[in-house]
This record gives sequence, structure tokens and C-alpha cells, in this order.
Amino acid sequence: MAGDKAEEDLPDFDEDAAVGNGSGSAAGGRPEAHGGAGAISASGFRDFLLAPNLMQGIIDCGFEHPSEVQHACIPQAVLGTDVLCQAKSGMGKTAVFVLSCIQIIDLSLKEVRVLVLCHTRELAYQIEHEFLRLGKHVKELKVAAVYGGGTIEKDKEMLKSNCPHVLVGTPGRVLQLMKSGDLKLDHLTQFVVDECDRCLDELGLRKDIQGIFVKTPKKKQVMMFSATIQPDTRITAKKFMQNPHEITVESEAKLTLHGLQQYYIQLEEREKSKRLIDLLDQLEFNQVIIFVKSVKRALALDGLLQECKFPSMTLHPLPKAFAHKAAKGESTLGPEHDRIERLRQFKDFRKRILVTTDLFGRGMDVERVNIVISYDMPEDSDAYLHRVGRAGRFGTKGLAIAFCAGEKETEVLNKVQARFEVSIPQMPAQIDTSSYLNA
Ligand code: ADP
Repeated sequence: MAGDKAEEDLPDFDEDAAVGNGSGSAAGGRPEAHGGAGAISASGFRDFLLAPNLMQGIIDCGFEHPSEVQHACIPQAVLGTDVLCQAKSGMGKTAVFVLSCIQIIDLSLKEVRVLVLCHTRELAYQIEHEFLRLGKHVKELKVAAVYGGGTIEKDKEMLKSNCPHVLVGTPGRVLQLMKSGDLKLDHLTQFVVDECDRCLDELGLRKDIQGIFVKTPKKKQVMMFSATIQPDTRITAKKFMQNPHEITVESEAKLTLHGLQQYYIQLEEREKSKRLIDLLDQLEFNQVIIFVKSVKRALALDGLLQECKFPSMTLHPLPKAFAHKAAKGESTLGPEHDRIERLRQFKDFRKRILVTTDLFGRGMDVERVNIVISYDMPEDSDAYLHRVGRAGRFGTKGLAIAFCAGEKETEVLNKVQARFEVSIPQMPAQIDTSSYLNA
């Protein structure tokens, strides 16, 4: 049952996007989500003087109080100031740009006014839905997302016949649509980059973003967000901005999450799968994300968990050549739809366990996830922080467990502890359920 064995059983293939993304039971929901650690109770959203139809969307979403980052950024953002914002995962950075963009957008033109760039199609899809959710009562508002993998013809048609005011997209696809002349950004007023360090640190993505940026009007508001922004990236980001309002809600050393219990387990590589299964039997969870280092391992481990009757899934579709191995009822749509469809399944609580690479490591928000397991440690400490941020969102409780087999994985764990000033103890034999599960 060891991971190695499971991997051996898997057909040999490569997946382009190895970008790095049960049993148990518990009641759903996040009771603390409306007033958890991230909320500032003294000051309500009303103080931001947002439009009544936008306020209605906020109320419908159940947001009662702005979080610290929302408090620190929204008043500046609605004035049109450039914003460079670093704040912990799960503290509501998305709503900062969603609310401020909807508040100031001019809907009179049928043109793209707001462009939001991010690094994966899953995140683009999620951000699009956050605009639709919070902007639900802003009747004229049109929002769309474009990303690689899907047919570009559909995107072209959508831009021609039903041009959105807000376009969310991955840089490659956006640039492609601009080059073909189908996407025009002459009236753009807001340029937003989410997970900006990920987008700017990778040369290919940065080039695409620059290519898009130079084709947009000079006078526009630029906003960039992430939980982690290294000093060099901060310098790069500021080259896109003019006198930005720089917000660092917590210094980098304090980026770990208060509601989150973190442990490590020292073991041998071959013990990982057995230990994982024991944990899944033993722990109580709403939803769990298990991170592995490659698509191949994600598929193998997911297969193994399914064999053991766990309600497991992965975001990664089987390659076409192995479609005959797909489970009954699995989508036969193209891979891009498949990944979004799978994401939807997990978000809708149709599956409780997601096995993934770091594709799911950043930005993704699934409210019922209360446990994150690093079956394989990530390559670096930033990736670890983003992963564990998938649990304990908006100040709720959560549990993060890291498997450490061998020197390299232990080294990453030590780096995490040093960099974020956090002590991650060895997992005890028993842990109190109430320490990681919201009442
Ligand atoms: P971040 O981008 O900082 O990682 P998100 O924007 O994904 O965090 O927000 C995390 C979760 O918290 C989302 O489910 C979001 O809907 C919710 N949320 C955001 N702001 C508030 C608020 N003021 N009150 C309650 N929940 C909120």
C-alpha cells in the first residue's frame, strides 16, 4: 500500500501542468466565519460608504465585519489609489479588490473596465464567482473568465457578443486574445494581479503580464495581492504602480495562522500511505486536502484511497490515452472543463478528500476544508504557507500535518519554522478534536 507501489502501478505518462496542486464526520459550516480572528468588530462595512446594491451582496454573503486587511485597504482602494497588499491567507483579500472595483466601476460602456490576472484557471473561476456573488445585486454588471485549455473561439465569441465589464483571466490567454484583436483594453480603469508574487516571479508569466500591461491605458489603478511578497518581488511589483498604498497586515515572520494547529510526522517514504489512511480513519474532518509533489503521485494516491473506499478525488484528469481507466460517470469533457468541473464537485461537498499538487496550493478557498496534509513536503517555505492556508480560513480552526521523510523534507520544515517564527511539533498520538474542528 506504500506510495511507491501505488506509483509503480500507474501508467507512465507526463502531464503538462505539474505546477505544483472520507471517512470521518463532522457538521459543516464555519460558525466563526463572520467574526473570527480576522474581523474587526468595531467597524462595519457601512463605514466604507459602499453603494446600497453592493451592501446587499455583502449581507447576502453573510459578511458582518470587515477583516483587518479589508479595513486597511478598501477605503484607499475605492479612492483609486494603487495598492500593494500582503496579508495572510484566508483573510479576505479577494473581497478587497472585488468590492472596491465594483464600487467604482463605470458600467455605462460595454467594455472591459477591470482586468484581474491570476496564475491558474481554477483561481480565475473562483474570482469570477466572487465578483458574481458580491455583485449579485448590481444588475448591469457583467463578469467573465478566460483561461488556457478552453476553446479560444468561445472566448472570442463572448467578447464580441457579450463583452464583460470585469474580465478575470490567466495571463497567457488574455495576451492571446489581445494579440488576435478580440480583446481590447482601451477603456481599462483597474488592473489587478492576485497571487502577484507567483505571477511576477515566474519569468513566462511576468513577460505575459508586462505584455498586457503596456497595451492598457496609462492612467489606471493597479492593485496586487499575495500572502507572500519577497523584497525583490515587491520592487518588481512597484514598477507597475504609482505611489502605491503598501499594506503589510502581518510582517512575514507572523504569517502563520492563529486558528491552525500544525504538526509534522517523521516517517519513511514507504510508510506514508499507510500512515495517511490511519489518519483519515482517526481524524474528524469536513473536507481534507492532501498535497503531493507530482500529478502522477496525485493520480496514484487518489486511486489508492478510492480503492480503500475513501470519498477521494483529484483535480487532475487522466490523460486522453488512459480515458478508458476513468471512473464511471467521470466527465469526458476536455481537460479544462474537467478540472473546473472537478473543482466544482469538491466545492459543492460532493467529495470530501482532494488529492492534488500545488495547483491547488494558492488562493483556492473551500470553506469546509479543515485539514491539510502535506503527503510530500513542498519545495519551499512559501509553498508550505500557501498550502496550510487552505485550512483555517478567515480565522477558523484547522489542522495541518506535514509528512517528513528524509533530509530534504525535514530541511523544508526547518526553513518554515525559521522563516515564519513558528514551532511545529511532532504530532502527538492523540489530539483533541475541538482544537481543529469548529464547534
Ligand atoms: P485570501 O484571498 O486572503 O486568501 P479569501 O478572499 O479567499 O482570502 O477569503 C477567505 C474566505 O473568507 C472566503 O470564503 C470569503 O468569502 C470569506 N470572507 C472574506 N471576507 C469576509 C468577511 N468580511 N466576513 C466573513 N467572511 C469573509
